[in-house]
Amino acid sequence: MTAVIPIQRAAGTKAGTEAGCLDAPVLRERGQREVFCGLTGIIWMHRKIQDAFFLVVGSRTCAHLIQSAAGVMIFAEPRFGTAIIDERDLAGIADANEELDRVVRQLLSRRPDIKLLFLVGSCPSEVIKLDLSRAAVRLSREYLNQVRILNYSGSGIETTFTQGEDACLASLVPELPAADTEAPSLMVVGCLPDVVEDQFARLFGAMGMEHVQFFPPRSSRRLPAVGPNTRFLLAQPFLGETARALTERGATHLPAPFPFGVEGTTEWLRIAAQVAGIANGRFEQAIQLPRERAQRALERYRERLTGKRIFFFPDSQLEIPLARFLSRELGMTLTEVGTPYLHRDHLSHELALLPSGTVLSEGQDVDKQLDRCRAQSPDIVVCGLGLANPLEAEGITTKWAIELVFSPVHGYEQSADLAELFARPLLRRQKLNLDRPQEAACS
Ligand code: SF4
Repeated sequence: MTAVIPIQRAAGTKAGTEAGCLDAPVLRERGQREVFCGLTGIIWMHRKIQDAFFLVVGSRTCAHLIQSAAGVMIFAEPRFGTAIIDERDLAGIADANEELDRVVRQLLSRRPDIKLLFLVGSCPSEVIKLDLSRAAVRLSREYLNQVRILNYSGSGIETTFTQGEDACLASLVPELPAADTEAPSLMVVGCLPDVVEDQFARLFGAMGMEHVQFFPPRSSRRLPAVGPNTRFLLAQPFLGETARALTERGATHLPAPFPFGVEGTTEWLRIAAQVAGIANGRFEQAIQLPRERAQRALERYRERLTGKRIFFFPDSQLEIPLARFLSRELGMTLTEVGTPYLHRDHLSHELALLPSGTVLSEGQDVDKQLDRCRAQSPDIVVCGLGLANPLEAEGITTKWAIELVFSPVHGYEQSADLAELFARPLLRRQKLNLDRPQEAACS
């Protein structure tokens, strides 16, 4: 079920865009893709659920990906690893299952602190042949009352990098306890750094909202309850499967803008407050100071970013909310906003807030998008790591999309940090051009 709540325009944001892009045409691309696979989500999720372990069932390539992407963790006791299933070592499926069981036994005997184990599927053909959901059931029986064992796919064939989080959380939804009270509750859905979660919890508390839960939780032993009186707000725009699974458990989705920037954060909180029946005065009082602080912190970025032209390649599904923030609060010009998947229901508020006429594209066809990007000659391009180096070599300033997912960027206190992520590469380019005017002109 989805609740319909009209959006109010926040003070200090651009007027005249009410029609926005709600019904705007979308260019659909279905060509070659260049994005990370869903395994990448492990890098931020393993930090969140502190008694969980992510066991990638994959190849040496998969092991390399998560080891190098999460290189900072190699000195700590990690909460992820890879069971390498390699055709050369195995006679057949029975052998592969035995190998997987052996790795799981070894892991759980060495790490009794693990209370939730995800078997994460990948794309090598040896792994595709394995039925990981059966393996999870089989191993769950063996470790009953000790470890909860679930599975999901992070395969590059099925997922782009943020869809790994969606698949992981969707696999966890059936495990959530049923709510045993009729009291309405709010669930915030999506992996948030603890510091951001605490800020939101304080704001909800200041408004007088008592029953607020966060999913995923910090411990698998504190899974939030769900039921017909649960309303949920998405903190990330890429959680379509998770939202569907929660709806099947009876919960109601609250469509809202996403909490990026002052406007997005205010409207996201406002929708939660309205549904909970919080008086407007109390709501405004609760958000007043952090909102003012964030507005002040954004001012210096407005000077640096207004009028700058930005092009988004499709990568993380954060593109549309970020484009809304950059255009409405920082005055940037959107040349094209690409997203790997456009979930119209979840993004309806965001689309309505985008400037009319914004060029939107869904899916990827790298060469065509590169041509359009070069023709636009934007000041900055948001793209994946694979495209960033060649574009930089052409003299085009880039921002890695993945950094926007890793960094704490939600909420009032992080609004200026989010702006800084776009201002910094532009400043770096400006300095390079000043230091090496000749080279820059020729590049
Ligand atoms: Fe590569 Fe597939 Fe493994 Fe991802 S899951 S690292 S795309 S082999």
